[in-house]
Amino acid sequence: MSTLFDKDIKYLKGVGAGRARLFSRLGISSVGALLRFYPFDYEDWSDLKKIDHAPHDEDCCIRARVVTPVSENRIRRNMVLYKFVIEDDTAAVSVTIFNSKYSAQQIECGSEYYFYGKIKPSLYGLEMLSPRFESCDSPVGIYPVYHQTKGLTNRAISNCVKSALSLLPNDIKDNIPEHIRKRYSLCSLNFAIRNIHFPENLLALQNARLRLIFEEFFLLQLGLIFSKKKRLVNSRFRVAEDCCEEFFSLLPFELTGAQKRVIAECTEDMRSASPMNRLVQGDVGSGKTAVGAALCYIAKRNKFQAAFMAPTELLAAQHYKSLGSMFSHDKDYCVELLTSSTKAKDKKRILSSLKGGDVDLVIGTHALISDNVEFKDLGLIITDEQHRFGVAQRTALFKKGDAPHLLVMSATPIPRTLALMVYGDLDISLLDEMPPGRREVETYWINSKKLSRAYGFVRREIDNGRQAYIVCPLVEEGELDLVSAENLAEALRHKEFRDYRVGLLHGKMKPKEKDETMMKFKSGEIDLLVSTTVVEVGVDIPNASVMLIMNAERFGLSQLHQLRGRVCRGKHQSFCIMVSDSTHPDTVARLSAMLKTSDGFAIADEDLKLRGPGDFFGSRQHGLPHLKIANLLLDTQDLKRAQSAAFEVLKDDPTLSKEENSTLKASVNLMFADTGNSLN
Ligand code: ADP
Ligand code: MG
Repeated sequence: MSTLFDKDIKYLKGVGAGRARLFSRLGISSVGALLRFYPFDYEDWSDLKKIDHAPHDEDCCIRARVVTPVSENRIRRNMVLYKFVIEDDTAAVSVTIFNSKYSAQQIECGSEYYFYGKIKPSLYGLEMLSPRFESCDSPVGIYPVYHQTKGLTNRAISNCVKSALSLLPNDIKDNIPEHIRKRYSLCSLNFAIRNIHFPENLLALQNARLRLIFEEFFLLQLGLIFSKKKRLVNSRFRVAEDCCEEFFSLLPFELTGAQKRVIAECTEDMRSASPMNRLVQGDVGSGKTAVGAALCYIAKRNKFQAAFMAPTELLAAQHYKSLGSMFSHDKDYCVELLTSSTKAKDKKRILSSLKGGDVDLVIGTHALISDNVEFKDLGLIITDEQHRFGVAQRTALFKKGDAPHLLVMSATPIPRTLALMVYGDLDISLLDEMPPGRREVETYWINSKKLSRAYGFVRREIDNGRQAYIVCPLVEEGELDLVSAENLAEALRHKEFRDYRVGLLHGKMKPKEKDETMMKFKSGEIDLLVSTTVVEVGVDIPNASVMLIMNAERFGLSQLHQLRGRVCRGKHQSFCIMVSDSTHPDTVARLSAMLKTSDGFAIADEDLKLRGPGDFFGSRQHGLPHLKIANLLLDTQDLKRAQSAAFEVLKDDPTLSKEENSTLKASVNLMFADTGNSLN
């Protein structure tokens, strides 16, 4: 079997080098990949309708005789219409085929065919435009519909799949062990592969789908359990002294119950034999930084180094400042900031003291991952807002220590079962309590006609001592109707906000300028900050009370929620005003969700529904293999079944080294091949 599955697709009958290139655009390079290229839809030709009973404007199949010769009408240079009439014993339909001379030539007056397409009523009776058809000699069934690419039609793909299937022996090895298949009533791989492409009937299709969905979840689970196990090494960095109380006394506020609980959960991990591997989920503003800070403190007191990785320079600088001042009482505690804009001279010094072990905590961006960064004793890694980092980056940092503790902090709360899947190899803690005194952000959606009133409102807030953000989707004037941050800042400085101090912040500014602007905003030297989404994550200015979002239709739901999270971080009542004239249903759904709730979990649920799981997770980014047929949201029952099956198999053969599981192991490895997570 492996030889057929691995065979280069160009050697398949009917393919060749040219088509192989087209197939590669669909991600298919081997016969195996083609067999695993499942249709996304089907045409059911077996459900024959009589013309007068056929539904209108819906795909259906009829059997009818051609009763007129095919007429050819050239209506302009590139447009030829081929017309003829067909009928069964109930009614007649006039058929039009556009441009395809080849198709038209297949039609013979007086013969019967199956026609598949939409029947529409028109002025002259019923008509069918460009139906597909087959001669009545061939048996009709359920046909696959594949994702196509230019030059490779559905028919061509179907034919190639057919020829691959004809080579497939009936005794191919099944990657799901037989006892599991029996227990979970799953059909064989052989049956599933044949019927997912060319189902014998609808029931067979359903069984094939079930099996393949189960298989995908099963392999996924096994892979995830393996990566979790791989980390079960002994930790060199066991915490002996937790000194949490000591840390608490350094803070200007009392920690929430949730913060204390999560810190305790992490400390417990760090006390145990194997390294911590934990995800903290907490809505925007729930105080994740303090949790990270506590662990850094514990690391220092237990004499190992910590690295804190943030997704943007702005955030790294912010953490550097807040953690730096938190630990400033201890002259002995050395905190450094390392980003790509750190000056060469400083960088050299920091790199050498990281290596020498003089730095206790380094805060930085991706720069921390670069090869020249070496640690003496890296025992703790914290990544903030992890949805911005890929698994590869996390792993790169991980490798700089000797099995260090890992804490991932995420502001995208997702339902627990999904979190378990997406972060399958991490333990999860929930920061499900806001610091006391927080109020809900009052959220509004206005159209641009009300903008000047909104500006008036912003001015009054500033007059009351607050500060405000205005966020725009673009830096430069690009598309029509989009306000750019630069132009808007310029305009506001001269008009609505000429008596106020207006700052500008965007991603194309130099890091130093960004930092200066942010510092000015933080210290109150700027009243109104006009910005792009660079402020989206993590930025913490408790005095800011208004977030005005221009062209709100341009932002995703989670993004809007993150932006809203920039206000209401202190004791002041805060406001989020979304400006959008869009009436597009997607926009309406997103903005309405924002008005309805400010609960991050509810928002994430809604976002998942609106975008679908693939898009939501950007699975590559998380290092999860791409799922071809299973759906994390819809197929949760199958997911649970596959999960128990995975545990069953591993109980008997924890490393999948038994001969009977060799095909299974190979499949898991294949699935995880490009995520850097293979089993050996
Ligand atoms: P996020 O979870 O979004 O990263 P931060 O860690 O930035 O949130 O915290 C948000 C704000 O709340 C910060 O100004 C922080 O100082 C403050 N904060 C955090 N924990 C508490 C607490 N227990 N009591 C009062 N304020 C807190
Ligand atoms: Mg944060």
